[in-house]
Amino acid sequence: MKDLLSRREALKGLALGAGTLLVAGAVAADAAKPAAAPAPAAALPHVAASDPMALALAYVESAKSVDAKKFPNFKPEQKCSNCLQSKGKEGDAWVGCALFPGKLVNAQGWCKAYVVKKA
Ligand code: SF4
Repeated sequence: MKDLLSRREALKGLALGAGTLLVAGAVAADAAKPAAAPAPAAALPHVAASDPMALALAYVESAKSVDAKKFPNFKPEQKCSNCLQSKGKEGDAWVGCALFPGKLVNAQGWCKAYVVKKA
């Protein structure tokens, strides 16, 4: 009887050990995979006029269409490309914006959260 119990305990221990090895192997395989690369900027979607955040911030794709009467602090030289919130290179047609993560805004666009980027 004692032999039977110890054999049963040994088999249980073996099964647990094999399970642990399988889990450890799976974790190690996941750790070895390279992290997913972030999407290139060109692959990001453009902010749609119907985007709730765009509506809330009165975002427009062209600063030329800003209603100066509605936004008296707007200045014609203000546009996404020279806004503190924008992330892009000089000459990019579309740039990232801290207020629209995962999307691009038009470099010639504007919204009421505009803050001048200091040189
Ligand atoms: S916060 Fe600046 S970069 Fe973003 S949409 Fe508004 S004006 Fe453009």
